[in-house]
Formats: sequence, C-alpha cells, structure tokens
Amino acid sequence: MKQVVIIGAGVVGLCTAYFARNAGFEVTVLERQQASYEGTSFGNAGMIVPSHFVPLAAPGILSQGFRWMFDKESPFYVKPRLDGDLLAWAYQFWRHCNQAQVDKAAPRLLELNLQSRDLYKQMAKDLKPFGLEQKGLLMLCNTDYGLEKEARLAETSKKLGMRADVLDKAGVGELEPDLDLNIVGGVHYPEDAHVNPKALMLALRDWLTANAVKILWNTEISGWRKDEKGICAVKTSRGELPCDALVIASGIWSVELLKTLGLKLPMQAGKGYSMLLKEPVQAFTTPAILSEAKVAISPLGSSVRFGGTMEIAGLKEQVNPSRVEGIMKSVLKYFPAYQKQDFEGTSVWYGFRPCTPDGLPYLGKLAKYDNVVLATGHAMLGLSLGPVTGKHVTELLSYEQPVDALLDPNRFMQVYSGF
Ligand SMILES: Cc1cc2nc3c(=O)[nH]c(=O)nc-3n(C[C@H](O)[C@H](O)[C@H](O)COP(=O)(O)OP(=O)(O)OC[C@H]3O[C@@H](n4cnc5c(N)ncnc54)[C@H](O)[C@@H]3O)c2cc1C
Repeated sequence: MKQVVIIGAGVVGLCTAYFARNAGFEVTVLERQQASYEGTSFGNAGMIVPSHFVPLAAPGILSQGFRWMFDKESPFYVKPRLDGDLLAWAYQFWRHCNQAQVDKAAPRLLELNLQSRDLYKQMAKDLKPFGLEQKGLLMLCNTDYGLEKEARLAETSKKLGMRADVLDKAGVGELEPDLDLNIVGGVHYPEDAHVNPKALMLALRDWLTANAVKILWNTEISGWRKDEKGICAVKTSRGELPCDALVIASGIWSVELLKTLGLKLPMQAGKGYSMLLKEPVQAFTTPAILSEAKVAISPLGSSVRFGGTMEIAGLKEQVNPSRVEGIMKSVLKYFPAYQKQDFEGTSVWYGFRPCTPDGLPYLGKLAKYDNVVLATGHAMLGLSLGPVTGKHVTELLSYEQPVDALLDPNRFMQVYSGF
C-alpha cells in the first residue's frame, strides 16, 4: 500500500485525504497549526459555484481594480509595494486579463465546479451532515448597468450549457419572500449549491480519523530526504515520515514550502473578511452575491454570513476596519431592513485566498520531483473545487495521467539556481 503524506489540513488537504484513503492509500496529513476552527477553510462563504466560470484574471478587472485602489472601502485592493514576488505575479496577471484566457478557462472551470458539486453529493452519504443544499446562487444587482452586465454573463452561461435565469425585482422576491430588497433584479444560477464550511471541515476530520488517516497537528516541517524518485521522507518536529508520494496542499503557504525545495511559484494572498449574524433581522434562503459590491451572503441554518473583499497586501494578521465597513455599508444599501447596529459586537474573521496569476489552480505533478503533487491556488474557489481536486490528485497518485496544460503547476514555476 502506498504511503501518502499530505501537507495542510485545509479543505483541499482533507478532501485529498478522503479520496486517497478511499482509493486504498495509507494517508498522513501534516498540519503546523493546532486543531482549530479558524483557518481560511472555516470562515469562508461555503459556496459551490459552477456560476463562477470567469477566472479572476479577466478583461475589465484591471481598470475596475485601478478605480477601486483609491477607495479604502472597495472590494478589491492591491497594496502597491516594491516586492519582486508581487511584481512577477502582477506581470503574469496583467498578461492573462484577456478574452482569450477567459475563453480557455471558462469551460474548464465550469466542468470542474459541476463535477465537484456532484462529488459533494456523494460525500454527503459518507460524512456527518455538513449543510449541503442546492438552492442555487443569486447575483443581485442594484443598478441597471450591473444587471445588464450580469445578464450578459447569464447568456455566456447558457452558451456553455448551464441554466441561468435573469430576474426582475419581483422575480427575486419570489425566491426571497421575507427580504426587503433595494435592487433592480438579479440572475439565479440553479446549479450552484452551498455548505456550512465549518461543519464540512469537522465532518471530514471525523471521517478521516475514523478511517485510519493520521492527522498530525502542531507539526513543523524541518527538511526533506530526497532520492532518485523525488522526496522519500519529510523531516518534521515529530521525526521523519517516509512517503511514496507527497501532496503539497498548504494554501498560500505552499509558496514558502516550495522555496525549500528550490522552486519559485507566483502566488499572492487575497485576504477576505466575513461576519456571522446569528440572529439576522431578516432571514435569507438562497445564497447571494451583491454584484456591484462583491459581497457574498450565505444562509447557514438560521444564521447568515456576510463576506467579501480581495485585499492583495501580503499576509498581515490584522483586520482592516475600512474594508469591513465597506462590506457592512453594501449590505445596508441592498437590504434596507438591515442597520449598522445589527453588526455591532460581531467578530470579524479573515482568511487568505491563494491566488494564481491566471485565475486557475495549480494542480498536478512537479516537473522537478516526480512523486510530488501540488494542489493549491484555488483563490475564491477552494471550497467549491476541494472534492474534484482531491479526486484528481488521487488519480495522479494512482496512474500516469497526461499533463493538464491549463492546471499544470509548472506553468509559471522557476527553479532556483543551486538546487
Ligand atoms: C471571505 C472569503 C470567502 C470565501 N468564500 C468561498 C466560497 O464561498 N467558496 C469557495 O469555494 N471558496 C471560498 N473562499 C476561498 C476558500 O476559503 C479557499 O480557497 C480555501 O479555503 C483554500 O483552501 P486550502 O486547503 O487550499 O488552504 P487553507 O485552508 O489555507 O489550508 C492550508 C493549510 O496548510 C497549513 N500549512 C501551511 N503551511 C504548512 C506547513 N509548512 N506545514 C504544515 N502545514 C502547513 C495551514 O496551516 C493551513 O491549515 C473564500 C475565502 C475567503 C477569504
């Protein structure tokens, strides 16, 4: 039986462990943090989003992003700084913000998200309940311009074979009868689904430990043992762990781990915030995104989570109050029954999305180490794509696969000299 070591107990690492274990591998997950409920995979919006077929790098984002740079409450921000890694990433991002990239990426992203949603449905039969529901996603617009833009995207969705219903305010009201709405309309994507991310993570942990997967919390990596195949053991604070295959699923921190293997990977942290209202003044039934404001709203049982912003400003462990204020103000604009006081005393969570320069994940074997698979870079789709990623990694561990050029982790990778 092959021994697989997975680095990172986020949603990608745990989904990979689930599929690898089901395929008969002996699996150990290494995690440097203590078992907690706080990481990026816990406080996100929990959306499974076939509707998100347009990658982050797309036409229009640069000019929009530039305008947003001067608004401290805006949903997208790149902190200007003289940092070689940021400049290298930004150059590739700029190169990929074009229609040709969207045309290549969109059908693949749609396919991966639909497969992943169906895998969640299968996983729900094995795991403790984790709040999986398919109620679709509403893209809500409070301007005519916004609705026209969303309606054009809905047309593209239909061309790609996925249903998308353009609705006026009354149409949205039928889906959300209990909400006061200050909108002009929206688009409903019925193929989307959602989960409670914390419940999912805990259900995965429980299933894995009950199925002989070792999760080593609080474990630091101190080095590697290499042989002709690649990495044959991981040196850790708990001793050396032999492995036949290694999976790096360490989110944004994969960048620093790869450096220790002599590899330079362009990836930036996209910080986002969320707030959970346990007793919302009006309940939501369908997950929604405020199209103009880029705020995500997820009904989680009787609670509701509001999340947003994409702040490319490094890995700062602190809350930027202006961005949080921006999220709150947007909610008040679209839903007049909500007041600023509703958010008082609510703690603010943040997480770091691992963002690639072309908006597609890094998923595949490393050219330099044949037995190492990289699974990261999912940006705002990590929860959505967790299962399909785990399944794909397991296939790569099981038999030879042709390289998937769109997802190839080596596509921007550089090798440091001297390694
Ligand atoms: C506000 C917000 C809302 C979001 N909403 C959604 C959504 O609705 N749908 C969606 O699909 N995605 C969403 N996302 C994105 C999603 O949360 C991420 O893409 C996903 O959680 C990334 O998972 P991961 O497993 O790759 O990384 P992480 O969750 O970051 O896990 C990586 C793990 O690796 C560990 N690690 C790192 N380095 C080491 C090391 N050297 N040794 C051992 N362990 C290590 C870390 O401690 C961490 O636990 C959202 C993100 C944010 C911020």
